[in-house]
Amino acid sequence: MKQKIRQWPKIELHCHLDGSIRRETFRRMAEQEGIDCPQSEEELTAYLKAPADCTSLKEYLEPFGRVGFCMQKTEYLETVTCDCLHQAKEDGIIYQEIRFAPAFSLGKGLSMEDAVRSVIRGIRRGTDETGVESRVILCMMRGRPEIENQEVIDTFLSIRRAGGADAMYLGGLDLAGDEASYPLIWYERLFRKARTEKIPFTIHAGECGSWENIRCAVRLGARRIGHGIAAAENPEIMRLLNEFQIGVEMCPTSNYQTRAVQPGREYPLGIFLKKKLRVSLHTDNRTVSDTTLSREYEWAMEHFPWLQEEDFCRMNLNALQEAFLPEEKKKELRQKLLRGYESKIN
Ligand SMILES: [Zn+2]
Repeated sequence: MKQKIRQWPKIELHCHLDGSIRRETFRRMAEQEGIDCPQSEEELTAYLKAPADCTSLKEYLEPFGRVGFCMQKTEYLETVTCDCLHQAKEDGIIYQEIRFAPAFSLGKGLSMEDAVRSVIRGIRRGTDETGVESRVILCMMRGRPEIENQEVIDTFLSIRRAGGADAMYLGGLDLAGDEASYPLIWYERLFRKARTEKIPFTIHAGECGSWENIRCAVRLGARRIGHGIAAAENPEIMRLLNEFQIGVEMCPTSNYQTRAVQPGREYPLGIFLKKKLRVSLHTDNRTVSDTTLSREYEWAMEHFPWLQEEDFCRMNLNALQEAFLPEEKKKELRQKLLRGYESKIN
């Protein structure tokens, strides 16, 4: 089964670029910048990885401070993005959405548009080199000034309006950051703007916050929910996700690390699947969580022994269905997925 999971085509929608920088790329960039970097491979892994026994989301976020310098130059952004698609290829992923917060790439004088176009250049190069299709998701951040989040939307629109090849690599928007401290409703105006402009979006909700945030995200028009763990506590919320056919992007390793799911507690994938929610699995952060998409699925198959190959295929089809892609492209990728599964599903 493990071998099959690695070989079967997969779709990944929830992967943060700064949390997924290859260790060797990080080391090379640190050397170029004259920044101290742990010598041994083991120490470097530990340095860039969140501990398995984090006590909070805050502790999980610490390694992100260490990789921030890799996100400040156009050539670095291009390289880490292209790398991300090479990792995807090695893991059997055929479509990858890559998300990042452009506001965190302005430290050395880049504009948001420079940062986003650099990531898009990385996607174009990565797709050329690997054949993995990809789109970028721009993250707005909780706790940051509204004007800055507004600029994220404006940057998306500016690239889209300029047209040309870059525009077609725009996926959608996201809202990330400290969910417990900033009520989602504060961001309503931004999402109203996104809806008016027909920009699809996902929202981190019900990860380390209440199911109330999931209800709010659906009301704001989110097509997908990042994590959505808290929905398991409330049948009404699960019904709502079902009714509006909202995609739920689940990331098991990360969810245990951040204590979104307490150690020893059952992961809500089982109940979500039984309730027929549109769930799919993702890594969240490959390097910070030290995982791959195949490993996330392997973990799920081990922990829920009643899962069948069809469930694996269904979750990937769910992900594709909720991808920020034109219908034509989805159809093409669906054929590719189904060919890979040798009709294990219809
Ligand atoms: Zn995330």
